[in-house]
Amino acid sequence: MDSAATTEGGGAGEEATTTATCACCGIGEECTVRYLARVAAQFAGAWVCGLCAEAIKDEAARRGVGIEAATRAHAEFVGSAAGAGSAGPAVQVAQALLQLFKKVMAAAPGAAVLTPATPAAGDLGI
Ligand SMILES: [Zn+2]
Repeated sequence: MDSAATTEGGGAGEEATTTATCACCGIGEECTVRYLARVAAQFAGAWVCGLCAEAIKDEAARRGVGIEAATRAHAEFVGSAAGAGSAGPAVQVAQALLQLFKKVMAAAPGAAVLTPATPAAGDLGI
């Protein structure tokens, strides 16, 4: 018996996938070519990972600039956060996570639940 498949009828059972590299933090992620193109179209032709995408959107909204300018600003931020280049991708991802975490904390109604980290971390860029 034919089960109702979730995919649209047409025979395109599988989509071509590729490994995209984030233009900001350099993290690699396997995704479909269609998804890659969609994200790239959103971010001035550059593919960025989910974390950086969130950070860029936040940057654009906060600064009132376009996605392209925000992408550049975020890429520079990640680059400068990496310092002399001794920091690996893991550190860069941690920086992006920290930024996202700060955003979530700032937006959360009960932001006082967790004790804030050291204030020194807030002096990076921006
Ligand atoms: Zn990224």
